[in-house]
Amino acid sequence: MKSDVAVGALGEARSEWNAIHTELVDKQSGDVAWKQGRLQGLNHFGGDDVLSIAMKAYELYASTNPVSARAFPSVRQLQDEIILSSLELLGGAPGSEGTVTSGGTESIFLALKSARDIAQQERGIRQPEVVMPSTAHPAFNKHAHYLGMKVIRVPVGLDFRADVASMKAEITPNTIMVVGSAPCYPYGLFDPITDIAALASDANLLMHVDACVGGFQAPFARQLGYQVPDFDLSVPGVTSISADLHKYGYALKGASVVLFKTAQLKEASKFVFNDWPRGKYETDTFAGTRSGGPVAAAWAVMRYLGQDGYLELTERLMKLRDKALSHISSEPRFKLIGTPELTLMAFSVEDYSLSDLSERMAEHGWILNLIDEPPALQLMINATHEERIDEFFDHLSTCMRSATPVASGSSDGAVAEY
Ligand SMILES: *Cc1c(COP(=O)(O)O)cnc(C)c1O
Repeated sequence: MKSDVAVGALGEARSEWNAIHTELVDKQSGDVAWKQGRLQGLNHFGGDDVLSIAMKAYELYASTNPVSARAFPSVRQLQDEIILSSLELLGGAPGSEGTVTSGGTESIFLALKSARDIAQQERGIRQPEVVMPSTAHPAFNKHAHYLGMKVIRVPVGLDFRADVASMKAEITPNTIMVVGSAPCYPYGLFDPITDIAALASDANLLMHVDACVGGFQAPFARQLGYQVPDFDLSVPGVTSISADLHKYGYALKGASVVLFKTAQLKEASKFVFNDWPRGKYETDTFAGTRSGGPVAAAWAVMRYLGQDGYLELTERLMKLRDKALSHISSEPRFKLIGTPELTLMAFSVEDYSLSDLSERMAEHGWILNLIDEPPALQLMINATHEERIDEFFDHLSTCMRSATPVASGSSDGAVAEY
């Protein structure tokens, strides 16, 4: 989308902070009122206290640069401590390692890069293929494009989870890795990770678990007694896992982890270069220079919340999730897509055009997340929804009453956009 920019950022003269502040705030006037719970995804607010700690920590480390551990050993230490805790939460074994990245997209990049380089070194594979369910995140295709890899997406089963037998049928001599999500982004459903991992072991392939959205929520939901299937590095056959701190880790945007079962896998995810005048250049991440701010914010949120804080937040959000589920089950035209394990879910609205409902809901300030396949609405619960969940469903009923039903049994999600 093209915006009508009349002036650039760089004025001729200097500006005062007050004027700058006013302008920055003005520019936000068209943004969604996420703090008022109007957003159904994209945000993982864990409370004003958590946000404030994260911002203070961010500010302290904003000008550090993790590209040099020599200059900033502090950030390296924060990263090491984040990885240590993540490995403890997500089934790391002795010898497992990991990297703090800028987000799920980068975590997935490093897992694919590692797999590609190892397959090239050990098996001489030049045209690597990765097999995954159709619900896997687009980041896999993005990086396959950069890395010269091929992604084979296999339709999910009738239960909307990975169809392992169909995935098996797509394995060729060029396959290097299989993928499952825990849970998948569109519907919030866990793929059968243990079955996919068994397939990987049998076929001598690597297996990546994309736990970007659920990785820092699932372990706590499980401790609280909710049913969560096995999904982490402790599952035999799983070789890497991605989990976003900036989702249900409640950190600021720009923080995720990728964990590797072995040091060799992590080694292959790095980039090392020595053929230029400035000496050995080595990065764990895709980015070079970046801010240590997101790392410090993530570390501070972990330290601030502790296991107890994560358990408490998870319990609050799971209760909200249960409330949403009861609203969904009380309206016969709502059909839940599968049975979600965590606080991300999708449901269809039979007999209504979702694009029409979405426009009507926008008049009440809601931004709906639409799903195309099958046409459905997505809900990703966060703490801003505590005051809003009933209002959301009230408004949805109001909008359904005023909308014209479409042909029986049909609905559409044709305007779904990320
Ligand atoms: C969010 C997400 C990603 C991508 O992560 P970004 O943080 O947006 O880069 C990948 N996979 C899943 C399952 C996700 O939820």
